[in-house]
Amino acid sequence: MPAKLLDGNEIAATIKAEIVAEVRAMAAADLQPGLAVVMAGNDPASEIYLAGKVRACQEAGIFSEKHYLPANVSTRAMVELVEELNRSEDIDGILVNLPLPPQVDYKTVQMAVDPAKDVDGFHPVNIGFLSTHRPGLVPCTPAGIIQILERSQIPMDGAEAVVVGRSDIVGKPTAMLLLNHNATVTVCHSHTRHLPEVCRRADILIAAVGEPGIITRQHVKPGATVIDVGVNRLTDRALVEKFFTPNSPKAAAFAKRGAVVMGDVHPEVSEIAGALTPVPGGVGPLTVVMLMVNTLRAARARHAVAQSASAEASK
Ligand code: NDP
Repeated sequence: MPAKLLDGNEIAATIKAEIVAEVRAMAAADLQPGLAVVMAGNDPASEIYLAGKVRACQEAGIFSEKHYLPANVSTRAMVELVEELNRSEDIDGILVNLPLPPQVDYKTVQMAVDPAKDVDGFHPVNIGFLSTHRPGLVPCTPAGIIQILERSQIPMDGAEAVVVGRSDIVGKPTAMLLLNHNATVTVCHSHTRHLPEVCRRADILIAAVGEPGIITRQHVKPGATVIDVGVNRLTDRALVEKFFTPNSPKAAAFAKRGAVVMGDVHPEVSEIAGALTPVPGGVGPLTVVMLMVNTLRAARARHAVAQSASAEASK
């Protein structure tokens, strides 16, 4: 029996409806969450991606503003903008879009973001909160993966979880979240020996590598849940033919557009896994929606602080 598909679009739509309801409730109290996105240079792919995030926020009633800086912007100028946004009363969340131009020191810019407005969840303060199991802003893709598992009733408590990939933005925070949900977690990377054997221990296998089809049926225990984070754009016909049969929808899409997107998981895994996220339409939609969740969380926290400060002042 083929693996059950875990539909990220459907889960994201449910969360979005919850966000809309909460934004309406905040509006009744005269509050509107606000997101600022900062981008430098004019990479058309990034611009499209960012426009999608901004549109999603607007649809949910979240105020958003875009700050496009020139490609030759300095680190100092970016930090100054971030500091201005830190002080802005209209802004609860600041998203610094990556990649930045080479002359900009990302770590300096990242450190300038107020951790309370760090809706990316990448600031070391928020990573510290995550790793010590305290409330904070959690990176969007890892938080989205947990939402998929929770809302699909995939038990994490006591499960063997294997995360392939140890990046700061996906692999490591996902491993920490799984640990916080009481999974027994193994993290793999490019130096891991016997990757298929290690992966076959997993009840929950997370693939976050960025290499098309690296996870094959050899890596998967029958019935396991496989979360495919990878987004790989194939433009080489030979690669498409390696992974997809000539009459498959992916082959048809490639014939039409000359490119097709696939994850890190080989299509054959659907014959052996219990549940699987598709690419596209799996983790991706959750990444966008968790940005809104973080903006809302940051807004709630900021207004709670503001309210208690004004209550103190009026005593
Ligand atoms: P990185 O390149 O930062 O990290 C890749 C990780 O994979 C590294 O830890 C690397 O190990 C490991 N790796 C590489 N080759 C192997 C191998 N042969 N065996 C085992 N491990 C290996 O990527 P990201 O974490 O940023 O992204 C991973 C993928 O997820 C990409 O395809 C990206 O596009 C996608 N992505 C998708 C998102 C979504 O919303 N759907 C959001 C973010 C990312 P080492 O550390 O040793 O180099």
